[in-house]
Amino acid sequence: MSFSSLGLSDNILKGIRAMGYEDPTPIQLRGIPLFLEGRDLIGSAQTGTGKTAAFGLPILTKLDKPQKNPRALIVEPTRELASQVETAFRDFSRYSDLRTTVIYGGVKYGKQNDELERGTDIIVATPGRLLDHVSQKNLTLKNIEYLVLDEADRMLDMGFMPDVKRIIQHCPEKRHTSLFSATIPPVIETIIQWAMTDPETVEIGMRRSVAETVSHAVYPVAFDQKNDLVLALLDKVDYDSVIVFCRTKMGADRLGSLLKRENHSVAILHSDRTQSERERSLEGFRDGKYKVLVATDIASRGLDVANVSHVVNFDVPQHPEDYVHRIGRTGRAAASGDAFTMMIAEDRQHMEAIERFIGKKINREKMEGFDYKYTSLFDDGKHASPPRFRGGSVGRGYSFGMSSRKGGGRRKRR
Ligand code: AMP
Repeated sequence: MSFSSLGLSDNILKGIRAMGYEDPTPIQLRGIPLFLEGRDLIGSAQTGTGKTAAFGLPILTKLDKPQKNPRALIVEPTRELASQVETAFRDFSRYSDLRTTVIYGGVKYGKQNDELERGTDIIVATPGRLLDHVSQKNLTLKNIEYLVLDEADRMLDMGFMPDVKRIIQHCPEKRHTSLFSATIPPVIETIIQWAMTDPETVEIGMRRSVAETVSHAVYPVAFDQKNDLVLALLDKVDYDSVIVFCRTKMGADRLGSLLKRENHSVAILHSDRTQSERERSLEGFRDGKYKVLVATDIASRGLDVANVSHVVNFDVPQHPEDYVHRIGRTGRAAASGDAFTMMIAEDRQHMEAIERFIGKKINREKMEGFDYKYTSLFDDGKHASPPRFRGGSVGRGYSFGMSSRKGGGRRKRR
């Protein structure tokens, strides 16, 4: 089935061709006709499946001609996702006169006010700044015909649900609503009941699966050796581009500085950085200016960064879904990618929860040549071989002889 048989308008089809899309992805194939029929949609699909086009193309087809007042609203959890979706809408609609405007916080109001004054058809926004514009009467949502709540579970995690509810209340009751979410916790179920009419669910692929093309490894390590191990890992692995995930913003800053001191080319991405810093980091990483992106989970969902050869979880993610999202940054479009997770003793339960969630056990590995200290993780069955002492004093650290396994996947070419 091709795009041309889905009922999309000619200028949108032309836009898709210009982008080089040949065939619709499964979520587009199933979602677009339902959307065009006017059905409310709940979409769950892995990141990188083409969900932006699954809602973007039918919205642009339906809006058809510009009217210079916002008739479609896409709500996104982060500024990065908002600007990514805005770019996609502009690309899809390059042969139409429809206008898309992005609205997010952390930047001045001037440019956004100008664009709103000039008139726009589609708004892509993060919740807080959108509500600011509404309360300042720079913008009304009373003409919204198409409402999209994207990454709804992420918005819930980030505490945006009260804002999202307020946004929905500003929209007319008669409208088309779609919601995309990897998981549907009870709060989102309530929103679905309240804000959607007889929605159809489009679920593509296994929500919990991780790409087949990614090889995974867990590296047990003592807490105070994490920095040394990540340095050793980056040194050994032949990476083209790697995202290193940290649990906290402070942790990301600290690790980013360490890697810079060790002469890695590093960008840092988390929500306490200014908007221009975030944009510079992401663009620099996309362009290849930076080979390493140190990020919190803000970067794990939905961000479209191609060719990430490796993902390193410096900290084990606390929510199993986040593991899937983080790993989704590599092995995209069937390119192979490697995913390494550093595990300290306190992470044991989180790691097991991840393994239950994805339905497979991940190999425990040791880095060849690394001078390990003892951690109780080495007693966990897999590493049954007794530690060899190398004269280390008891307490301050047993050192381990290295296993003969290959260290960190692909070797650096020197
Ligand atoms: P998304 O899941 O919307 O973030 O899309 C992931 C990536 O797939 C983006 O780079 C899209 O431009 C690309 N993409 C989406 N749909 C198609 C398609 N039908 N053919 C080729 N690439 C696509």
